[in-house]
Amino acid sequence: MKKYVCVVCGYIYDPEDGDPDNGVDPGTAFENIPEDWVCPLCGVGKDQFEEVK
Ligand SMILES: [Zn+2]
Repeated sequence: MKKYVCVVCGYIYDPEDGDPDNGVDPGTAFENIPEDWVCPLCGVGKDQFEEVK
């Protein structure tokens, strides 16, 4: 699965880890995260993330 980076603060979303503190289970693809999820570090929305190449 693809990793995504927050363009604002550099936080990396790794699907293998998820974001369990914010209700995203490990193994959740970025595409499947709820649209109201925000970056756990800086609070911006999913539209501020881009795929890590
Ligand atoms: Zn961020």
